Amino acid sequence: MSNDSNEVLYKKYKLEGRLDSKKLFKEKHPDTEYKGTIADAFKKQFNVSDNDYERYVKKYCNSDEKHSEIQKIKSKFTGERKGWPDGVVAFYDWYKGKGQACGYCGISQDELYKLFSKDNNKKLPLNNAVKRSFGTLEIERRDSETNEYNPENCILACPLCNNAKSNLIDEENWMSLFAEPMREYYKKLLGKDLKNEKPEKLAAKPLN
Ligand SMILES: [Zn+2]
Repeated sequence: MSNDSNEVLYKKYKLEGRLDSKKLFKEKHPDTEYKGTIADAFKKQFNVSDNDYERYVKKYCNSDEKHSEIQKIKSKFTGERKGWPDGVVAFYDWYKGKGQACGYCGISQDELYKLFSKDNNKKLPLNNAVKRSFGTLEIERRDSETNEYNPENCILACPLCNNAKSNLIDEENWMSLFAEPMREYYKKLLGKDLKNEKPEKLAAKPLN
């Protein structure tokens, strides 16, 4: 088995929680012997070298923040989102492909964390309300009638765009009239230009 396919397996197993739970791993591999950790069993089962395993952990699980990126994205895969076509790996790839930025105004997750972080420079929210106090990008469904979670119908939105647009302003008007002022507001709060350009016009909404 090539290293590449081992990496794909690692990512899949990690996202499915099989590397975090002996029970889950064992369900899939009832004949695997356990001498040591799940990691050891995984390495043995798929002939993964220590070096490769370490590389995967570094790539997917290391993080300076409290939770690794893979855990963060995995934690969003709940409820109705579990119906995402092709499952959690496809969801992870979709999320990563969105470039960690608001699809409407373009603000990046890093910039949002700066504005919402708990240190003294925190600018948002304006009061101490807990809701939306972390500045995490939200997964918004574009067509609220079909309300489906799939790659075409979902967009990452910052808390301000998502909240202000809500279901009262349609996408096209939001993009053409409000996205730029939102960028100006963020620019003022950050004291500098946003890292990303304003996103291009959105793709046509999926048909019902
Ligand atoms: Zn936004």
